[in-house]
Amino acid sequence: MDTLLQCLEERGALNFFAAEEDIEECFKCHNEAYRMRQIRKWIYEKLADNFDVMTDLSKELRRILREKLTIYTLEVKDCVDVAEQTKKLLLETPDGYLFEVPILERRNYATVCLSTQVGCPVGCIFCASGKRFKRNLTSSEIIQSFLIAKRIVGNKLKNVVLMGMGEPLLNYSETVDFLKKLKKNCGISMRHVTLSTVGIPSKIRQLARSGVKPRLAVSLHFTSDEMRRSFMPGVRASIKDVLDAAYDYYMETSRRVSIEYILFGAGVNSTPDDAGRLVSLLRFFEDVHVNLIPYNPVPGVDLKAPGYSTIKTFANILKKAGLNVTIRWSQGKSENLACGQLAWKRGKN
Ligand code: SF4
Repeated sequence: MDTLLQCLEERGALNFFAAEEDIEECFKCHNEAYRMRQIRKWIYEKLADNFDVMTDLSKELRRILREKLTIYTLEVKDCVDVAEQTKKLLLETPDGYLFEVPILERRNYATVCLSTQVGCPVGCIFCASGKRFKRNLTSSEIIQSFLIAKRIVGNKLKNVVLMGMGEPLLNYSETVDFLKKLKKNCGISMRHVTLSTVGIPSKIRQLARSGVKPRLAVSLHFTSDEMRRSFMPGVRASIKDVLDAAYDYYMETSRRVSIEYILFGAGVNSTPDDAGRLVSLLRFFEDVHVNLIPYNPVPGVDLKAPGYSTIKTFANILKKAGLNVTIRWSQGKSENLACGQLAWKRGKN
């Protein structure tokens, strides 16, 4: 046990999720690889939040693990039912950032919406998350968010959407590490995971070859580069390059890509001409799904959703051109938990 302790210290292992591979190596060095399987089962399947409950480990091993490693570094500050079938978790990072995790429930399944950054550097003018960017979340923090949600809704939790705060592909390595943990340890199929991105072509292609193949949702929202860059100032790539990369992703992974399109009123991006341009842009995709999202208001932003008939007309133009279209009337809208409404706050620090 002393050498195990030394091994953990030499590798600087402090948090279970952050140092999982190092801890595994330490056990392997001591011909006790099976210990890691036991610990993973406790943490990922039985959702243990401390080492003391791991009764199939010796007392001495539990003591070493307890003294050397943390499991959860995120603190649950609140969990409330905010609307029908919608819960809101409020989590705090060790450095004092509070952020919300929406959980949307149906009868047989639940979906958790996870963040990958505190705030977002893309700075879309219509989004609460884009107002300030603080830092990336670590893969440890992202997987903790998932497991905390699972402790609340149990095995009903089958879907994950990376559509909370942040641009996942600007936190590429931590996001992919999280997805690998989710796939390997949590029994979540990547078919049930959606990664939403504004589109960073090189990272989209890298993701296609990463070994994890989540569904890709491209947040397009506009049909001209000029409009897109004025509303989404952190976007670099052209629409053409983003869609080319998304098409390559589809070809490499065989996963149908979805296009997210927030509809703003007052002629901003929801006219019949916009719909026609969107059809032209997507014409070369054999299999694509368009999600139309009537804009959810954000305090201090002078934009609003179009009226019902504008939304229906826009959707019908797309449908007539043969595109698969869903209008996403957001859950959690009144509680600022819908798309683009998540923000972070300063906590205790
Ligand atoms: S809409 Fe998405 S990419 Fe834009 S600021 Fe918000 S979180 Fe970031």
